[in-house]
Amino acid sequence: MLWSLIKILLFVAVVAGLTIGAGYIMETGPGVTVSVGTLEFNLGPLQAVLAVLALLAIVWLGFKIVGLLVAFLKFLLGDETAISRYFDRNRERKGYRLMVDAFMALAAGEGKQAISKAAKAEKFLQDSQVAKVITAEAAQLTGEHKKAEEAYKALLVRDDTRFVGIRGIMKQRLADGDTDTALALAQQAYALRPRHEEVQDTLLKLQAEHRDWSGARKTLGTKLKTGTLPRDVHRRRDAVLAVSEAKDILDSGKSIEAREAAIEANKLSPDLVPASIMAAHGLIEKGKPRQAARVLKKTWEVNPHPELAVAFAEIVPDEDPKARLKRFGDLVKIQPDHPETKMLMAELNIAAEDFPAARRAIGDLASTDPTARALSIMAAVERGEGADDAVVRGWLARAVTAPRGPQWVCDKCHSTEPTWVPVCSNCGGFDTLAWQELPKSELTIPTGSEMLPLIVGETEAEAAPKVVEPEGESADAQADMADVEISATEEPLVDEKSKA
Ligand SMILES: [Zn+2]
Repeated sequence: MLWSLIKILLFVAVVAGLTIGAGYIMETGPGVTVSVGTLEFNLGPLQAVLAVLALLAIVWLGFKIVGLLVAFLKFLLGDETAISRYFDRNRERKGYRLMVDAFMALAAGEGKQAISKAAKAEKFLQDSQVAKVITAEAAQLTGEHKKAEEAYKALLVRDDTRFVGIRGIMKQRLADGDTDTALALAQQAYALRPRHEEVQDTLLKLQAEHRDWSGARKTLGTKLKTGTLPRDVHRRRDAVLAVSEAKDILDSGKSIEAREAAIEANKLSPDLVPASIMAAHGLIEKGKPRQAARVLKKTWEVNPHPELAVAFAEIVPDEDPKARLKRFGDLVKIQPDHPETKMLMAELNIAAEDFPAARRAIGDLASTDPTARALSIMAAVERGEGADDAVVRGWLARAVTAPRGPQWVCDKCHSTEPTWVPVCSNCGGFDTLAWQELPKSELTIPTGSEMLPLIVGETEAEAAPKVVEPEGESADAQADMADVEISATEEPLVDEKSKA
């Protein structure tokens, strides 16, 4: 817009300048006398100006003719391409100008114009890879996938543009959801340029999706070597891949190899819960219960997780509840104030039928962090202490609508997984699961606690905080324990064997 205005203004200025100049010459000078040999021309002022212009044109033409003559002479002297080169130079100049226009149109987001300019440029510049790149990118911009793909395919023939072609087609396949072809293309692109970060990441993601754990570990190693991944993140992700590899080996029935792979994964990242559990199982099988306990305790230090407690229980499967309570003392002293520890101790005490101790263990968790599990434990404690049915029902009713507590939640898409997996089944994110509570916004239940009085038959306030003094454990209450405990926790911490 501005440039057009400037051009118009310049043109007006030049015309005005010429008019004024011509008028000035006509008024002042008597004219110019030009003598060529014996001939003499008397030119008027305007004629003089025209003569100068004509002279300039002749000189320009002269240069062109001389250039052509030189080319012709060279041709006569044996340079066969001299004349075609002379004409090509002009074509080239035009081609490059068109290419610049095409590039500018692409940069301005005018896809269609970029395509037409690039097509014209290609006519002048034979076999121009740059014009093909511009065509491909512009076709991508305007959504013409077929055209883009043709242009990318044309780039595959030459060594210097093959990478651009492969990457372009790979991105198209990814957009179409054809991950098998995309993986093959990513591998080719990676072979050409292993240091290319985007290709590394795409390949890693596709390998993880296709459960090619060993391939993904190699790619991850390259990322570390080329400096596109910090060392600590590499260790953690490598452990994630190693434990996934171990799980697949276990599924294929090779338990000894799986055991070793899991122990290795645990060494890489001791705070990774699934690796720790698998390694503990492996160590138990190898007859090394002390090492198994050490591995689990190390992980509990960073990530107290109910499955770690389950694995810790499996170290001595047939112990009675009192002995188990004593043995767990070692584990729970590591994180004494963690909610997971409090609930674990309460559950162990419930299993040992020491309800006052269970109440002490859980403390005020039911009010500070009222998860479904904490409230169910409270119901079990009340029942164990022989409280009224209404009180027990009050706790259970609250548990129904309470938050679930920590789960395996994807950091990227906030979907949950029932068990730990290396790749999120919802968004395909790699190593995105963390043991955490769902963000509050995703927890709201529209018909929440206001329904409770109708269900329970009395208000929450009456039911829940009623403190029942611990009495002797009635046989009745103990008999009822079994069904309450099922709802107390979804992770079967205290297995039936140990209760018997
Ligand atoms: Zn996800």
